[in-house]
Amino acid sequence: MLIALFPGDGIGPEIVAQAKRVLDALAIPGIRYEEGLVGGAAYKAVGHPLPPETLELAKRADAILFGAVGDPDCDSLERHLRPEQAILGLRKELGLFSNLRPAKVFPELADASALKQEVASAIDLLIVRETNGDVYFGEKGMRRTPEGLREGYDIMSYNEEQVRRIAHQGFQAARARRGKLCSVDKANVLETSQLWRDVVIEVSADYPDVALSHMYVDNAAMQLVRNPGQFDVIVTGNLFGDILSDQASMCVGSIGMLASATLNDSNQGLYEPIHGSAPDIAGQGKANPLATVLSAGMMLRYSLNLPEQADRIEAAVAKALADGARSFDLGGTMNTVEMGDAVLAALN
Ligand code: NAD
Repeated sequence: MLIALFPGDGIGPEIVAQAKRVLDALAIPGIRYEEGLVGGAAYKAVGHPLPPETLELAKRADAILFGAVGDPDCDSLERHLRPEQAILGLRKELGLFSNLRPAKVFPELADASALKQEVASAIDLLIVRETNGDVYFGEKGMRRTPEGLREGYDIMSYNEEQVRRIAHQGFQAARARRGKLCSVDKANVLETSQLWRDVVIEVSADYPDVALSHMYVDNAAMQLVRNPGQFDVIVTGNLFGDILSDQASMCVGSIGMLASATLNDSNQGLYEPIHGSAPDIAGQGKANPLATVLSAGMMLRYSLNLPEQADRIEAAVAKALADGARSFDLGGTMNTVEMGDAVLAALN
């Protein structure tokens, strides 16, 4: 099993190093690592944010553990040379279409949520978001109306195959959790959503053990803050998922705690914290590595099929927090390496 490590920019190398220590401590037989350059680090070294060698390593690997990209020095580069293009390039080249974002409140951190503690502490959900279609990928442009007014347009569309494959991801994820899937759409007004709903219902025939429900996106946004404990897995399109997954993240609290995965058809995946390269704290030892550690756990679960090892990582993070480990973003004073030490101590 080959893991590609792409630390990237800013705090990326600091947090990936801690996740790697945790993976090493699990001593998983047959696992090996190769490191590649991405983002601003790659641009500065070889002139491109996603060099051919990096892409080649990504394609060969079973999974990619990614830190973050983004470097203020690169902000004035042409768009295709900016660090952030590395992620878009990897998504496109590897066909990564299924973004998984868990949102779970660790009891010790319930007061970090923007929600009331008793509401927040019930959150344990997973958003499965399609990331290769929808309004972001449709025809778009600027034109003039017959009256001469400027008009922008972005066409929303999904074909049934695109919906079918993300629906399967949603059902499989629900099967591996508490067996509940809520499909979010806007079928009362959008044809795209009507097709979405029809196809999700067709796919549900393959998963009689999963309880399927449907919800309009406006109601889902409301329910996520009113009663988030009702959700297990949410499956939705690219636009609705973009908004709902950020909303769910903030219901949980600190950005330094949130992991994500983006998978393709063969369950090859890119695993990364949801935060960016945090240039404001890079090199100061202030980064919380737990989102990256939890991303490594997701990697073991979804791409390497090692659920027990994934459980061990999640349990170790929970124990480290219960034992009082707190980085700066969580109101504590522990540095990045000390947070890694705390997870290792909990693991053993
Ligand atoms: P950011 O997520 O990097 O930082 C936002 C705030 O959260 C900062 O104050 C930062 O210090 C803090 N923060 C983030 N991660 C933290 C952690 N692990 N521990 C403690 N505090 C943490 O977002 P930004 O400042 O808007 O963007 C910075 C750069 O990152 C930009 O270049 C942006 O394009 C890039 N970015 C990359 C990704 C990615 O690689 N997937 C995602 C988002 C932003």
